[in-house]
Amino acid sequence: MQGLQPYPQALIDLKAYGNLNSVMVSRGCKFKCEFCTVHKFFPHFNVRPVSEIVDEIKASGGQYFELHADNLIADREYALELFAALKPLNIYWLAEATLNIAEYPDILEAAAESGLFYLLVGLETPSQAALDAAGKKFIRISRAKENIARLHDYKIAVDSAMIFGFDQHTEDIFEESLDFVADIQLDHCDSVILTPFPGTDLFNRYEREGRLLTRDWSKYDCSHAVFQPAHMTPAQLEQGAERFARQYHSLGRSLKRYWHRQKILAGSGSH
Ligand code: SF4
Repeated sequence: MQGLQPYPQALIDLKAYGNLNSVMVSRGCKFKCEFCTVHKFFPHFNVRPVSEIVDEIKASGGQYFELHADNLIADREYALELFAALKPLNIYWLAEATLNIAEYPDILEAAAESGLFYLLVGLETPSQAALDAAGKKFIRISRAKENIARLHDYKIAVDSAMIFGFDQHTEDIFEESLDFVADIQLDHCDSVILTPFPGTDLFNRYEREGRLLTRDWSKYDCSHAVFQPAHMTPAQLEQGAERFARQYHSLGRSLKRYWHRQKILAGSGSH
């Protein structure tokens, strides 16, 4: 990724993106989850030279950034080098990484000190069996609450979608997921229907098993059931995901999250 063109900031109305600048950091991931497109698009993990990232950030004059990486901590040595270089820039940034970041105190501390304020993680579901089957054994649901609390200790907000429709899911998964995201104190959560994007291992398996319901790609948008789920009907899957979103955003639940977030932020302002 050496010599990559800077993000075309001049062509993008940043106001439409909350004044969040974008800077590329790395592409690819060392894991190979069954439903994921990343390792199909980028079979090898590549990083950008840290000095080029720093130059681009300085030249942008911005203060808030999204650092684009499929898994920011895939190479921990590189991540530490990057965070050390970001620290003197006095910026705030968000990124995507596995929740395992909380299990490496040196990396978490360096990330926080260099401006990390919002992290997108791929928790996906409270079903450990579903994660194991999808190739995400490295995420331990039993440790999610503790790991999120560690991120909150550094005033970092945590965002993860809940994916519905894994073969291990029954209709109980929607209620279970609502309880789960409240219990682990996730700061933001979207409702997503499992989608077998063409080219993924999941698509190939459903095709072999005769479970694809449509090849209308416009329906492959994570809000339609485009395959036959194992333990519910496609309609039950769509209605359940919609119900989860409605209940998650209900006034009562939103207020609870708001007050919790205020508690976390109390005393913040360091960095
Ligand atoms: S860890 Fe995340 S980015 Fe990497 S393969 Fe799995 S789902 Fe994709």
